[in-house]
Amino acid sequence: GRRERRLGENVAVRLEGLTKRFGEATAVAGVSLEIRDGEFFSLLGPSGCGKTTLLRMIAGFEEPDSGRILIGGKDMVGVPPYRRPVNTVFQNYALFPHMTVAGNIAFGLRMKRMPKPEIEQRIAWALELINLPGYENRRTDQLSGGQRQRVALARALVNEPEVLLLDEPLSALDLKLRQELRVELMNLQERLGITFIFVTHDQEEALVMSDRIAVMNRGQVEQIGATEEVYEWPRTPFVARFIGDSNLIPATATEPRRVHTSLGEFVLDEEDALTLGQKVLLSIRPEKIRLFRDRPNLPNAFRAKVDDIIYTGSENQYRLLAGDTCLMCDTLNQDIQEPGHEEFAYDEEVWVVLPPEKLVVIENSEAKNA
Ligand code: ATP
Repeated sequence: GRRERRLGENVAVRLEGLTKRFGEATAVAGVSLEIRDGEFFSLLGPSGCGKTTLLRMIAGFEEPDSGRILIGGKDMVGVPPYRRPVNTVFQNYALFPHMTVAGNIAFGLRMKRMPKPEIEQRIAWALELINLPGYENRRTDQLSGGQRQRVALARALVNEPEVLLLDEPLSALDLKLRQELRVELMNLQERLGITFIFVTHDQEEALVMSDRIAVMNRGQVEQIGATEEVYEWPRTPFVARFIGDSNLIPATATEPRRVHTSLGEFVLDEEDALTLGQKVLLSIRPEKIRLFRDRPNLPNAFRAKVDDIIYTGSENQYRLLAGDTCLMCDTLNQDIQEPGHEEFAYDEEVWVVLPPEKLVVIENSEAKNA
């Protein structure tokens, strides 16, 4: 995630109960959220969760069945796409192949009948911005994928939109280029201060680039928050599974801050007390689990066997088996000099500790509460 940045006080985009159906299927089901001025905001979710449809409604390419869209405080219902203060960058560039780079970038400005000298100024400014100075007269079908996506970005930015909508703009590019363009996009957004709404199914991309993320599932927003918050404190089983790797352990409350699981009794460090018999899921990230050779004098310790070791260069990943429960543990970011982070052998019996303050308690919507 990004360092905390100073964002505008104003709301750039406000969605109120947005719903869109295609026949029987509900693509977007009552989404309400606010995006702040200058924010890098991501819509993250698996294929078919409705993120593209949501973006297309903001752009004006789809009309909602119900709900409202406000951009800069103005109601957008009935306003055609070209009259909205937004521009869209698509995954497949959508450039005119027979036109030059300059022709593509100038297209929208010519439609607005902007004077020629000003158009030329803006083209030069935009090419500088996307690191392709002097590319005015190249044909776009002679450019690489990364260069095309930069031109598509320039074409959107010359219109000076209040909000830039980006629909999986990097997913057609190879990994190296994708990583480079991530950084370029972040820098650009920071420099221009334009609000970005970025659609992606790639959780790493969303975590690296965004100020805040809305995680979508089946047309609804499951969780919305700062990147760290969504990663550290998933509030639903879906979010815990979709973002990062989580160990999820079903548990039943035996006391307000104590649960019973198939791995034993655990104490919790929760602000909210549980009710007796309440069924929850405990989520813990692989890098938060601690391993010991000798029994530690710590709460939430239990025995497990090292079932597999995955060496990834910078870390060891252990697959642990306790009864028939499998847990993943990463030693990355852990100080292996310290007790609790020793190296272990295949088949070794170890002590596993789930530190209470690292356990995230999630309401178990998948189990029927007794
Ligand atoms: P992807 O990443 O695959 O594009 P997405 O999260 O962007 O997925 P949407 O494209 O918004 O999801 O689609 C949400 C749901 O609405 C899907 O079930 C999809 O099949 C359906 N849908 C989207 N557009 C249409 C359309 N024009 N006609 C019929 N159904 C549609």
